[in-house]
Amino acid sequence: MYKTFAKLNNIKKHISRLFFCTDGKLKKYALYYLLIFFLCITCCLTGCGKRPPADQTPQMDTSPDFFIRVLLLKDTSKAVITSSNNLNIISDTGEGKKYNSKLNITIFNNQLKINNDIFTGKKFEVKTSSPNIFSINDQSYRGYLKLIIDPEKNTFSVINIVPLEPYLTGVIGAEMPDYWEPQALKAQAVAARTYCLYIKKRFGTSRDYDMRKSQANQVYKGINAESKQVWDAVNETKGMVLTCRQTDGSENIFPTYYSSTCGGHTEDSKNVFGDDFPALKGVPCQYCKNVAKPKYYFWHSVKFDHKTVTEKLMSRYNSLEKLKDIVDIVIKKQTVYTNFTRVTAVELIGVNGKTDWLRAEDFRLAIDPSGRKIKSTIFKLTKEDDGWLFQSGRGFGHAVGMCQCGAQAIARQGADFKRILEYYYPGSKIIDVYNNN
Ligand SMILES: [Zn+2]
Repeated sequence: MYKTFAKLNNIKKHISRLFFCTDGKLKKYALYYLLIFFLCITCCLTGCGKRPPADQTPQMDTSPDFFIRVLLLKDTSKAVITSSNNLNIISDTGEGKKYNSKLNITIFNNQLKINNDIFTGKKFEVKTSSPNIFSINDQSYRGYLKLIIDPEKNTFSVINIVPLEPYLTGVIGAEMPDYWEPQALKAQAVAARTYCLYIKKRFGTSRDYDMRKSQANQVYKGINAESKQVWDAVNETKGMVLTCRQTDGSENIFPTYYSSTCGGHTEDSKNVFGDDFPALKGVPCQYCKNVAKPKYYFWHSVKFDHKTVTEKLMSRYNSLEKLKDIVDIVIKKQTVYTNFTRVTAVELIGVNGKTDWLRAEDFRLAIDPSGRKIKSTIFKLTKEDDGWLFQSGRGFGHAVGMCQCGAQAIARQGADFKRILEYYYPGSKIIDVYNNN
């Protein structure tokens, strides 16, 4: 208790010194301090414009082609869903019930228990009325939800079904700071829109969702990522997607990959992901170094010991178990640029003399799934007594397609989003996906 009083007295003294002179008169700058203080309080209360400006969720009546299915929770055994409106449950067996504002969901013997009711179906829709906003485990999203039971695991997955444009607002604000240049945000919106429609088309109905909410696809944070700037970027590019010439000669959308900081040159997709599109050829980028934080542009050396490298690689790629133990790693393929080289494939040599190889991007993410230690595939690899040293690192991310820091630097120079997209996806065209027959 004494400590608390002493602390309070101390704080009082500091505040007094801030506002009053030793003779008790109000300091000259006291009013400025007070003004800043009240501005901060106002900012906190209003969220500084961070509140979603769209009260309603648009496009709820759009075609199923333009709804995105985002996997929010996989193989869970419980979830809490809330909404300021009623929540309606409909199961695939036709059962239905309306609840007030909160659902406690658990699973028992492959049957979903919602509050005190047991349901017999295996797939469920959870819908609210306008503005179609709800929270799941305290994260807010737009659209509606699907719950799908996995009978083999006695778990269920939760999928957010959300129209394309509001989905993008949950992505743009998570993938790029919303205080960046409006033209960079618009380039990001077109890239993210094209990417998710491509993935949706590619996997179709072969799985229950289109997108994951992580960097495995693109980061999605729902309403938490929204702001006026983000909504502006999405609305002002509404429906715009990129197309390029495909191997069969047709003009169609392609996987518009993007990453944080290319480090000086973007890379051909063929060398990183194995797919080959003319608009995914590497281009020089002298731009990102002006925007990226120095520790991401030139990253610190990082060491992984022999045991970790072997275990991580073998647990990610079971086929490597034939090597028994990895005793050497050799650069198999690299792209040489003026000031650096990017590793694109590595050969792994086993203690029994057997060998195998991995794309360098897969190799780095198997050893460091966060991608925050081995930040890119621009590195020099040195074998040490008890492990491997990754040094002279440069850039952050896979470096295919648009370089986000580069986009921001180009936008700062006054270019619009179309120029940014033309630069990083050479030969691509913009079309309106809602009026494309
Ligand atoms: Zn770059």
